[in-house]
Amino acid sequence: CGIIGCVGRGDRTVETLLSGLSTLEYRGYDSAGIALANGSIDVVKKQGELDALEQVVDTTTLSGSVGIGHTRWSTHGPPSDRNAHPHTDTEGNVAVVHNGIIENYQELRDELEREGVVFTSDTDSEVVPHLMARSLHEGASPRDAFRDAISQLEGSYAIAAVVAGADTIFAVRQDSPLVLGIDDDAYYLASDVPAFLEYTRDVVYLEDGQFAELRADGWTVFDHEGTETTPTVDTVEWSA
Ligand code: GLU
Repeated sequence: CGIIGCVGRGDRTVETLLSGLSTLEYRGYDSAGIALANGSIDVVKKQGELDALEQVVDTTTLSGSVGIGHTRWSTHGPPSDRNAHPHTDTEGNVAVVHNGIIENYQELRDELEREGVVFTSDTDSEVVPHLMARSLHEGASPRDAFRDAISQLEGSYAIAAVVAGADTIFAVRQDSPLVLGIDDDAYYLASDVPAFLEYTRDVVYLEDGQFAELRADGWTVFDHEGTETTPTVDTVEWSA
């Protein structure tokens, strides 16, 4: 299971996501998918090897220079196209990738279903885009919608999300790895450093409970209360 994300890679976004996912293959997976954000969100996902995903990507028009990708190691719901990540809200304005387990997902899902939300997967993860969509509908900013959704989760997670029109990757980790890669004009996030090591050696290891935002013009890390922090940027010495 693995997560990759990048902003600032222009028309190399898809290739950056796919090559990142291939370096994370060693972690094991049964499905894979990517989402690109611009004014809207494009998602392509597929059960099986990365080859299967690459074939669909080839025949699909994807645009956007803000992207997230995922390899799934199923915990809730069998391997299938519909259970592959990214997961979206009903309107397709939010796309989310998740590694880990959301312990209280059933309660959250029941609550959302009572409000009329129709789920399209068996995963614990799908509650996240729907929780974000609910907050967005109530007028929250994308950042607040993300924080709001995460504050309702119990369990272990590395999560990355994109919102149509926001040009930002929102990310958080709790008991699951997530590291940022910092280049001059592009920013990355991944479950493990090798996923972006060919572009940059400058990394920020997120701590449990920290949030990160990656934008074309920069990156920010917040503590669990939403206060901006000044994290240490480490330079990785080893080669992949
Ligand atoms: N629990 C999630 C699922 O079953 C994420 C699994 C993973 O870590 O890849 O879809």
